Amino acid sequence: MSSPSKTPTSWHIHMPIKTLLRYGDKRLGEIVTHPKGVDGARAELRQMRAEGREFLVCDSNCNKRKPDGSCAGHPVENEDA
Ligand SMILES: [Zn+2]
Repeated sequence: MSSPSKTPTSWHIHMPIKTLLRYGDKRLGEIVTHPKGVDGARAELRQMRAEGREFLVCDSNCNKRKPDGSCAGHPVENEDA
């Protein structure tokens, strides 16, 4: 029995910064947490866009990102279910 050499990949959830900036205080506050509140979060999101990033990964554990800020995908090595 031969298994296909296809590596399963998982991605962290990432959202377009453009979309996040359109959200109201309540909704944005549910997605991102910032010591200075939603206004601080918006300032940081605008700064990220100024640096050329278009996406925010909603998981600080993500250590592999594309230049645009989105998750580049992580190979799933073992499924320890
Ligand atoms: Zn990731």
